[in-house]
Amino acid sequence: MSRPSLPEYSAKNVLKLCSVTGCGKHRRDISRFCNTHTRSNKLFGNPYGHALRVWEYAQETKEVTEIINQNLENPAIQAALETFDTWLKEGARGVHVLHKTK
Ligand SMILES: [Zn+2]
Repeated sequence: MSRPSLPEYSAKNVLKLCSVTGCGKHRRDISRFCNTHTRSNKLFGNPYGHALRVWEYAQETKEVTEIINQNLENPAIQAALETFDTWLKEGARGVHVLHKTK
């Protein structure tokens, strides 16, 4: 028995339901997920993923703000604030800011 071609596999796959529990939509192309959950999987690495809303990290925002305000003279805090300020200014000018890793 040979494997089906991608178009054949896709034609059968789209008749199946999304693998996410409780989602009643049909799968997309050759994905295990529907359009919505395929997109979430690509964006967040998880079909259940979603963008965080401000209220979801309000406590962390409060705690980090307190730490920053208590350590404004710390050189690392100063450097971080300068970096963020640069990113915000460049972003406002439409400059794409790349995250650099070593
Ligand atoms: Zn789905």
